[in-house]
Amino acid sequence: MSVEERLSEVRSKIETAGREAGRKPDSVTLIAVSKTFDAEEIRSAIQARQRVFAENRVQEAQAKWPALKTETPDIELHLIGPLQSNKAEDAVALFDVIESVDREKIARVLATEMKAQGRKLRVYIQVNTGREPQKAGVVPDDVAAFVGLCRDELGLSVEGLMCIPPVDENPGPHFALLAKLANENGLTKLSMGMSGDFEAAIGFGATSVRVGSAIFGSR
Ligand SMILES: *Cc1c(COP(=O)(O)O)cnc(C)c1O
Repeated sequence: MSVEERLSEVRSKIETAGREAGRKPDSVTLIAVSKTFDAEEIRSAIQARQRVFAENRVQEAQAKWPALKTETPDIELHLIGPLQSNKAEDAVALFDVIESVDREKIARVLATEMKAQGRKLRVYIQVNTGREPQKAGVVPDDVAAFVGLCRDELGLSVEGLMCIPPVDENPGPHFALLAKLANENGLTKLSMGMSGDFEAAIGFGATSVRVGSAIFGSR
């Protein structure tokens, strides 16, 4: 199957899952995760009207996206992978949304960079819903304080929460927990669900789903 065909299949699954969950049409944004795929494959998706994309590494994104964004200025690019302080300047210059804000140091560096560049990116707080030691993200107990720091002290445009559930568990309880934490903190956006579980995530209230391999093929 081509990228166009897989994309249209994913779109119709999103629509069906949304309808079954009683969600409003267009209340779920499809984010096409293009990490490891080259500019030609990405162009196929752009030609099929996809506009929201995500990458997990700043350096890889810098190699592909400046040219693609020049060709198609209404692209919205999300960073969904871990961010190091020394890459914050480049990330703020290239991305439109940073979904992986997960610790005080990076939140402070991002706030400083956004001021310096005069760019106000939307951000998500990444939550380690499974409390996995090797995984990035704020643990659930710390979400309220961290959202407060980012929003009130640093003035970041915190839009929502993002999670990556443990690979070997039913993701449902993790999606439910993320929705509860967002609600408790007055946040309306939930970035959750990947190729294997985006329909389930929509049932739990995902407002965006991050889908890579179901669109571009296996990595
Ligand atoms: C790679 C990645 C995805 C997409 O994964 P697929 O299983 O290919 O859909 C989603 N979110 C994050 C954070 C990723 O790194």
